[in-house]
Amino acid sequence: MKDKKEDDQKRLVSLRTEIDELDQQLIDLLAERRAKSLAAAEVKYAEHSPIRDQHREEKLLSLRLQHGRERKLDGHFVSRIFHEIIDDSIRYQQQFLQRKLNSKTGEEVEIQRIGFQGSKGSFSHLAAEQYFSRVGVPVTFNGCTSYRLVVEMVERGDFDLGVLPIENTTSGGINEVYDLLQKTRLVIVGEEKYRITPCLLGLSGTKQSNIRRVYSHPQLALQCGRFLSDLDVPIETSFNTNETVEELRRTNAKDSVVIASEEAAELLGLDIVKRGIADQTDNFTRFLIVARQPIRIDERVPCKTSVVLATANKPGALVDALKVFQDNKVNLTKLESRPVLGNPWEEMFYLDFEGNAESDHIRFVIEEVRRHSRFLKVLGCYPSSDIIKTEVAPHGKTPTDGASIPHIPREKARVSTKEEGARSKTDNAKLYSRDYKLEDSVIDVRGVRIGGDSFVIIGGPCSVETEEQIFQCAKHLKETGGHVLRGGCFKPRTSPYSFQGLGYAGLELLVQAGRTYDLPVVTEVLAVEDVHKVAEKSDIIQIGARNMQNFTLLQEVGRTQRPVMLKRGMSSSIDDLLNASEYILSQGNQQVFFCERGIRTFENATRNTLDLSAIPVIRQKSHLPVIVDPSHAAGTRDLIVPLVYASRAVGAHGVMVEFHPNPDEALSDGPQALLFEQWAQMMEQLR
Ligand code: PEP
Ligand code: MN
Repeated sequence: MKDKKEDDQKRLVSLRTEIDELDQQLIDLLAERRAKSLAAAEVKYAEHSPIRDQHREEKLLSLRLQHGRERKLDGHFVSRIFHEIIDDSIRYQQQFLQRKLNSKTGEEVEIQRIGFQGSKGSFSHLAAEQYFSRVGVPVTFNGCTSYRLVVEMVERGDFDLGVLPIENTTSGGINEVYDLLQKTRLVIVGEEKYRITPCLLGLSGTKQSNIRRVYSHPQLALQCGRFLSDLDVPIETSFNTNETVEELRRTNAKDSVVIASEEAAELLGLDIVKRGIADQTDNFTRFLIVARQPIRIDERVPCKTSVVLATANKPGALVDALKVFQDNKVNLTKLESRPVLGNPWEEMFYLDFEGNAESDHIRFVIEEVRRHSRFLKVLGCYPSSDIIKTEVAPHGKTPTDGASIPHIPREKARVSTKEEGARSKTDNAKLYSRDYKLEDSVIDVRGVRIGGDSFVIIGGPCSVETEEQIFQCAKHLKETGGHVLRGGCFKPRTSPYSFQGLGYAGLELLVQAGRTYDLPVVTEVLAVEDVHKVAEKSDIIQIGARNMQNFTLLQEVGRTQRPVMLKRGMSSSIDDLLNASEYILSQGNQQVFFCERGIRTFENATRNTLDLSAIPVIRQKSHLPVIVDPSHAAGTRDLIVPLVYASRAVGAHGVMVEFHPNPDEALSDGPQALLFEQWAQMMEQLR
């Protein structure tokens, strides 16, 4: 009996050794297969032939299935394994083509620094490893404490690429990453789907029944909601598993666990207390790879384009925008809506669709959609991680047996549309121009319309000075029928010794006054780093005359959601002004209007010379609204009212005029501020 047991043991050991050897052979064979696949990709590259041959894939699969059946292997098993293998091979070949297309010839491949949120063994790290294992360049992985930091480090050039989770099949979209994408200059260059299998990890000896506390990244906690609510212990937020684990070690806490991957358990020397705690077994996260520069995509590689847009404030605008995709037979793969920060109940839409953003067809579609949008930004174009599976039924017959479906290359599948004739004209048209868009643009700011047939009246003090002053102005503006409250908080003064504005404290007062009297507000922004903070509060962002050609500032306001009033530089031509607006529009923000505020001439009877002829010229050349600021043009209060009437007569879409409760005491531009009575009279006569 004892001998029999020993013999069995020996036999088991030797069987295990043989199985190990077979497994190793499988690995060697897979590596060999990959090498051959790479060689095949080189030939395909040289011959310009397609990467995929689905007929061949089908044949290959059914041969394998048949072979499998002869060897008594079940069809589903063989089919699953070969799908994986073919999948890997296609991705590998696609990556090869991408590398060829995007590599700078003759240069050494540099080590790429990859940033991700979390510590080693986090799911972001694992997804990044999976993605870069196919890219075939040397990489280093660098954990960061937040998504924002990942983005900033890539923007600054400290990392080459960032990996960010964007959506999960259980918990949905990741808000913070969507917001970062809208604002950043980075572009999406790749995507990766990764199966997330969270586990409970604890110090050796930790038991599920003893758990009193769970530490988790908020995203992972959302994916394990059901399990955690049954467990019924406090959940602590942790963005850095490493640090949390150090703390557990320090306190020898055997009543606390962290939610992390199996790999992390190994890396951190922890026990797996419980596996499979996600609400769904098919729990995947889609990660985006972001970089400073877009990549080019080989036309043989199926790809996706992502955009973020906000449609115009009119009924049916979203349907109109979506119809463009339908009419042009572009397949939308994702539509996600997110609230706009600072604009309650307004939505931004994130769209993914199939197609190459560099192709004429997709470029045309994007420009068509832009016409229905007040904001549109292309987030990037990248190889799709979805590989269309070649289907072969496990019993052997292919679905296309007999009647084979011809393989139509994607590029050929484009349809021509009625508008194609018109495209050549508008193809390179500047976004501000009438060639790009014939009808007048109208901007809606909290129900106030700027453009079209309306005449908007913006008024208020040059600078926000005190709470009392700005509230008095807001009240007066409202009572006299004005539409938008102005007030400078960051002042671009000619002398550094003059009053520079109250900054954010002033902005707070301006916004409060505006909310109290139900008036949208406009204020100037001077510095790139203030743009998004000001955009969160101010309904309109002003770019002043002195910054009209501050191109980085223009681009930054182009990444916000707020309408922008672009003032003409005092020594700038109309064309300079129009081209400056293109810097904003090309970043996504389509809500720009111009403001003529006088230019420098030899004439010095007035502070500047109000160029009223600019109004009809701009209206001829551009669909964007244009208003007039006679205050900074004239410089003295008695000249302003007649210029307001003149502005209306030449077709301006509105005016901006400074007034002050006590101009003699004003901290800036007192001489040009209308008295309250003057303003009230003017408003009376404008009715
Ligand atoms: C202003 O409107 O507050 C201002 C400073 O105007 P400008 O940039 O036209 O000088
Ligand atoms: Mn002023």
